[in-house]
Amino acid sequence: MSLLVTYRPEDAYTRAARRDRAWLAQRARAKEVQLGPVDAFTRDFVRADRHDTHVRRVFEAAKIQAVQNTADNVATLRPLAEQSDVEMADQLRQAGARQRRWRLRGFLWSESRLPRVRACGRHRAADAGVVALRRVGDSVGYAGLQTCGSPHSCPVCASKIGSVRREDILALMSAHTAEGGSAAFGAYTLAHTRTTPLNDAWDMLSVAWRAVQQNGTVRRVRSRLGHIGVIRVVEVTYGRHGWHPHIHPLHLFEGKVSDRDVRELYVAETTAWSAALKRKGWRDASLKGQRLRRVGGRSMGVDLANYISKVGYEMTHVAGKNSGKTVNHWSLLDAARRGDADALAAWHEWEEGSRGRRAITWSVGLRDRYALAPELSDDQVAGAVLGSDADDLAYIPDWGQVIASPVAGADLLEAARQGGYERLQQVADAWGITVLPANPYAPTDWKLPKRARAVLLA
Ligand SMILES: [Zn+2]
Repeated sequence: MSLLVTYRPEDAYTRAARRDRAWLAQRARAKEVQLGPVDAFTRDFVRADRHDTHVRRVFEAAKIQAVQNTADNVATLRPLAEQSDVEMADQLRQAGARQRRWRLRGFLWSESRLPRVRACGRHRAADAGVVALRRVGDSVGYAGLQTCGSPHSCPVCASKIGSVRREDILALMSAHTAEGGSAAFGAYTLAHTRTTPLNDAWDMLSVAWRAVQQNGTVRRVRSRLGHIGVIRVVEVTYGRHGWHPHIHPLHLFEGKVSDRDVRELYVAETTAWSAALKRKGWRDASLKGQRLRRVGGRSMGVDLANYISKVGYEMTHVAGKNSGKTVNHWSLLDAARRGDADALAAWHEWEEGSRGRRAITWSVGLRDRYALAPELSDDQVAGAVLGSDADDLAYIPDWGQVIASPVAGADLLEAARQGGYERLQQVADAWGITVLPANPYAPTDWKLPKRARAVLLA
């Protein structure tokens, strides 16, 4: 297959395009692809072996202006070229993030110490037959697989849970501001050393926060300010000084509050916070580490986006472990996957220390006040299956083929989302994965005939 890929000048300086070109050059040196005569933004190359996900990303990242040889490719690729840049960039980002999640979870299938994480997306659910790939509108997903529901230790479940939790907070905040309410948020942390075990630090965080909630002065100030409730998000980062856990409170007030009001609450809360730490024999956290500020007005949207990005579910970025700054636990996992034994040890401590912990807590009554639906558990969110049997697009009779290359699981979803069964079939072929079309004319309770199932599942 020979394809001419033309980068438009305005795409050429994007980081993705630079990476793609560097990647192609490297592959060319390794004689895996041949580069044809090129100008600054054009590459004409021939695949030597099977498709690589990255090659597909190259096609997708570039505006494809000409495709030689097969008419099929023109048909497949044209819809991409018709999308706007913004849409395309957005979808690419999402597809890339999904690949990362699947790659990391694939690593955990063998390296996690949590049995449910090792089984997540790998083993079939108890009552399921063949794994089905479903598509409902622009959403895609698998049916028939086990899920672990871990908001802390599974990149795939965490992403699902995180998007639901973020939407919840946004729904709450839009109802709250519509009523004329105001808000404040901040960060409370504790002094820790490199050897402080994560478990201890997290326990202390919970104890200190409870002390703040129960403190008489805090309660009085809150009630004077028309305090409605608080959402508590726990974020833990990792750096040279070990684990760095902190709480991000989001306070809601009935009416407007002033900076002075918030300052008063800050003093009351941090005083109670430090006292609790001292009682338990922890070093007093410096006041510098504690923050609380009013949010609202024009910057509300930005502030809020900032706040919910603290919800550590999402792999917003995976920084290098040794970059000098603190990193999130996904970065540790990524370093572990690349063979860093220290990072793997830290990841195991993370799994142990975060297990069963709540990442977000809403104060009682807050959801009812704004008539939000009852909160779904992490398991419920992660285990929710898209659509019904009627939405099955394809079956994957041998899931073991996906287990062998976890990223393929993400690629099949993206292919189905972009181009339905036809594109799915192409991508599955490239990965060497068998897919079967679901019968579009069958009644909704249609299943593979028993004998076929027996053969397929053998
Ligand atoms: Zn999971």
